[in-house]
Amino acid sequence: MDAEQLTHLRALLRAKMKRHQRLQEMIDLLGDDGVVELVADMADKHGDDRAIDRFRLPLLATKALLAGKPYIPPVIILCGARTRTGAPCKRRPIPGKQRCRNHGGLNRGDRTPQGRINAGKGLRQWHAARRAAKTALTGV
Ligand SMILES: [Zn+2]
Repeated sequence: MDAEQLTHLRALLRAKMKRHQRLQEMIDLLGDDGVVELVADMADKHGDDRAIDRFRLPLLATKALLAGKPYIPPVIILCGARTRTGAPCKRRPIPGKQRCRNHGGLNRGDRTPQGRINAGKGLRQWHAARRAAKTALTGV
């Protein structure tokens, strides 16, 4: 490891970042083998778990890496609904749903026949209003 890599590594360890993000950065810097070497070196002195914790890396992903399996970055699913500020919502969706509890994740849909009828009425009204607004705008 050269001096520049070492400076980089120190900066990474100081940075407040998510564990899997830090692992990805370390892999970008040192390569898979480099990270394995680094953790294995430390593991000789302190044991696997302590070494992994020392570099603040994700436990299971690093163990997989030490066992010679490739590191697969986690796919983090977000709600993504547009918030009042216009940015996508960063919360996790309700399990089995697309949206978080603030953005309709708890919605169970129309559950009675009358509810289905009302929803249909509302939808047709909404479409009619939209068409009216469009023709008013374009003047057609
Ligand atoms: Zn949300």
